[in-house]
Amino acid sequence: MNETESIVDQPTPRRIAVFYAHPDDAEWLCAGTVAKWTRAGHEVTYVQITHGDKGTDNPDMAGYRLAAIRREEQRNAAAVLGVKDVIFMGREDNTLNGRDRDLQREIVRVMRTIKPDVVLCQDPSLWWREADYINHPDHRNAGEAVIAAAFPSAGSRMSFPELLAEGLEPVKIREIWVMGPLAGDHWEDITETLELKIEALKQHASQIEGTADLEGLRNWAADIGRRIEPNLGAAEEFRVFHTSG
Ligand SMILES: [Zn+2]
Repeated sequence: MNETESIVDQPTPRRIAVFYAHPDDAEWLCAGTVAKWTRAGHEVTYVQITHGDKGTDNPDMAGYRLAAIRREEQRNAAAVLGVKDVIFMGREDNTLNGRDRDLQREIVRVMRTIKPDVVLCQDPSLWWREADYINHPDHRNAGEAVIAAAFPSAGSRMSFPELLAEGLEPVKIREIWVMGPLAGDHWEDITETLELKIEALKQHASQIEGTADLEGLRNWAADIGRRIEPNLGAAEEFRVFHTSG
């Protein structure tokens, strides 16, 4: 079912970094795959770019309080999946600009520090899907900044020389996986880890109203699965790029 040979399918443990805009984005887009990878011995780090501090309509909730609640929720979700660490970049929700050189530099800094073989990010080209889904601009902008950082900047000696001056040597990212893309070319069967994905999403209690979101997650995974193979119970979709260095 997979068109692309990936280094994560080889037995060698790999370092994988999942960059995403808001707490719970990764649970929606890749948590079933992440759980498979941690079980296989790969080391997964989450990198959360914003606090998700605008994710409420409750007039009694302050942004800084919500940010703290959501950090805790994200740590708990990561623990369910066997994620090694969560890095919080601390940007303000709903302010990301994918072409912001400061943002790109800070993402390159994280990449050169944790040296991932594989980077995951959101789709910078996804403006909307069906009539009921406009993509959050942070998702697009996070994707744009992460891809620009992964290729070429993280591996480019001449890019961001101030980071090199700090001792952060260039690092070559081997693969970029775009999560939940407009047009996928790679699918992961998550039948075995679907319940873990749902359990991880449940940790984001501040964002979940009743069981509709959890059912929505289950149905989305099932829809992707059905598109790939008639009997496939659940899947996640990606577009995978192999960088040539
Ligand atoms: Zn989001």
